[in-house]
Amino acid sequence: MYDIDPRFILDIMVLLKRRKKDINMKYDYLVVGSGLYGAIFAHEANKRGKKVLVIDKRPNIAGNIYTEEVEGINVHKYGAHIFHTNNKEVWQYITQFAEFNRFTNSPVANYKGELFSLPFNMYTFNKMWGVVTPEEAAAKIEEQRQEIKGEPKNLEEQAISLVGRDIYEKLIKGYTEKQWGRPCNELPSFIIKRLPVRLTFDNNYFNALYQGIPMGGYTKMVENMLEGIEVRLNTDYLENKEELDSLADKVVYTGPIDAYFNYKLGTLEYRSVRFETEVLDKPNFQGNAAVNYTDAETPWTRIIEHKWFEFGTQPKTVISREYSSEWKLGDEPYYPVNDEKNGALYAEYKKLGEAETKVIFGGRLGEYKYYDMDAVIAAALAKVKEVFE
Ligand code: FAD
Ligand code: UDP
Repeated sequence: MYDIDPRFILDIMVLLKRRKKDINMKYDYLVVGSGLYGAIFAHEANKRGKKVLVIDKRPNIAGNIYTEEVEGINVHKYGAHIFHTNNKEVWQYITQFAEFNRFTNSPVANYKGELFSLPFNMYTFNKMWGVVTPEEAAAKIEEQRQEIKGEPKNLEEQAISLVGRDIYEKLIKGYTEKQWGRPCNELPSFIIKRLPVRLTFDNNYFNALYQGIPMGGYTKMVENMLEGIEVRLNTDYLENKEELDSLADKVVYTGPIDAYFNYKLGTLEYRSVRFETEVLDKPNFQGNAAVNYTDAETPWTRIIEHKWFEFGTQPKTVISREYSSEWKLGDEPYYPVNDEKNGALYAEYKKLGEAETKVIFGGRLGEYKYYDMDAVIAAALAKVKEVFE
């Protein structure tokens, strides 16, 4: 009989196990979702010598910022995206992957054929009331806000107290009720608070230091992030979970967190949008990237004319009518509804997520947050720091 040291057998077993893992586990990271969050995480991991596989269930990369070329125009297929930020670090980071143009968002409001400048500024007040000086405009607003006594209790009262009843009736009420599918006196006041009100002739919609559109489209920008990284499209993680999990050491999941857990605690709600896109045989349809239809009768909330994001000179134009719609399971989840009920449900899912030690949940759907692009970039970079530094 040979006397075999049990530690030797253990070593052999560990070696065999490791070898099996090496054969199957080709990747350090499986990144689920090729949107902004997934693409940044993948880029940074790849840069640090990690082996990364990115998958997406859609036929294209870039998630909701995907742009598709039609008639030489970059069409924002999942909704108009204007990059804006006050975060210098984020701006420096993103401009490595694309040069940005000088686009500034200044939507126009169309109320039954009357046009007004947005956000609310001296051009708007002049058109609405004929006032010429900031003092006159301020006096008009002051006079109209008198009808609201005490703290505004809902969006209607908040809007009247910010800009008066005339602007509320023509530029806010119809648009907001179409967008949210509920009367303004049943909506929370914070929704309207983020819109600037200015007593200057400044119609820049965002209060941001840096703003623009990546020249050549967002898809090209994400392509640059994913350079040298294996990407598999038309691949649904949740449908092939076991097989895909066996390929990588860690998973970065940017899909809906409730879907990951098979909705076992209930369904998180979203607000959805539907787009009707048309190519028109004319060079200029509305002369601006965004025109909001602020009356209640027009069924769409706004029309986007894509070429104006990049000052296009093409002979044709592409427009998208945007309709706000209720979301149901199976629809594209666009905006998380960050109210109390959904917040509480998300908190429960978050706890489940924290127990999944192999998985990082990130991005707009993974964290159920109404993130703008700059916030997603900041969140992805913070996670990269946490994981690698
Ligand atoms: P996403 O872009 O949603 O990427 C998630 C990806 O995961 C998707 O590609 C999806 O297909 C994939 N995925 C999900 N589940 C699975 C699965 N099971 N298997 C495989 N893949 C899966 N921000 C701004 O800063 N400015 C704007 O003007 C602006 N406009 C917006 C307009 C609209 C209509 C919307 C909806 C958002 C807008 N945003 C805007 C926000 C912006 O889109 C987000 O901040 C950003 O795109 C989020 O990136 P993400 O990677 O987290 O998510
Ligand atoms: N809003 C409005 N009229 C407009 C544009 C915006 O009443 O022409 C209101 C509306 O209630 C909207 C809110 O202002 O929900 C915030 O507008 P923003 O464009 O920031 O909304 P988003 O489309 O990003 O949700």
